[in-house]
Amino acid sequence: MSNFIFGPVQSRRFGLSLGIDLSPLQKQCNFDCLYCELKGAKTTDKIVNPPKVSEIIGELEASLKKFSNIDAITVTANGEPTLYAHLKELACKINTIKNGKKLLILSNGALIADKSVQNALLEFDIVKLSIDAVMPKVFKKLDRPHKSVDLAQMIEGMKEFARIFKNELVLETLVVKNINDTRDDFLALNHIVNEIKPSRIDIGTIDRPSAYKVGAVSYETLEILSREIKNVPMMITKRAKFPKRGLSLSEDEIIQLLKMRPQSEEDMENMLGEESKRGLQILLESKKISLITAANVNFYKAEGV
Ligand code: SF4
Repeated sequence: MSNFIFGPVQSRRFGLSLGIDLSPLQKQCNFDCLYCELKGAKTTDKIVNPPKVSEIIGELEASLKKFSNIDAITVTANGEPTLYAHLKELACKINTIKNGKKLLILSNGALIADKSVQNALLEFDIVKLSIDAVMPKVFKKLDRPHKSVDLAQMIEGMKEFARIFKNELVLETLVVKNINDTRDDFLALNHIVNEIKPSRIDIGTIDRPSAYKVGAVSYETLEILSREIKNVPMMITKRAKFPKRGLSLSEDEIIQLLKMRPQSEEDMENMLGEESKRGLQILLESKKISLITAANVNFYKAEGV
């Protein structure tokens, strides 16, 4: 039985993945988010009883033999993986045995201004950081950070990391009803996201039982809010099936939509009616739009933007 490795888990965005849990016995996090899928817990700024790198690597080697067809190895934790003091050493060792798989980390981004954390994250193929709110009051209310976490530093750290990171940086915003679901929240988010310039941003809402009593927003709300995110490839994420919208957009309207920002293949599939999907295909064949990939997700992009 494995202590630190779980999966494989199929994800729409990253394919089939083996997970590494750096805190398998208890939640250890510098946030205590209202929407956390784990039980609420006091925040911490370190992982106590951290597993040894050699133990994790031993288990990972065995799992990789068993599941040689996976696409990615995901470093996560029952909490925050960047609190793990040996993250760089672990990532470097995984890179020597991963055999072409992508190395991915899911982090809340709280420590991204820390140079040693940045250094460790440079070893990953895909870094996914949370950015739920950029206004201090909303951030505190929603993510309930440890007293050592500073939002302004986090945002500066994300900008700095995005400048030096050569692989794919994905941001993720989770929208909670009546907390971070206003147009103002998203106007402010758009401003910061455009300064960070990630490869992609994922926008989602609660779709599992959460630590505290908070609610999800509807798909329609996600869609309306996400229109405020300009220029950056954006994907609406939700585990449940999306409603089909069947919109009728002319080829010009599709180009206008894609000029605001690239749209994921899946979002366009859900958004457009059959006639408009044919228009999309014609635009693609006539090279007025193109298909690009950002961290394993395909996006339609207007040419010359
Ligand atoms: S950062 Fe993740 S693990 Fe930590 S409290 Fe928030 S949702 Fe839970």
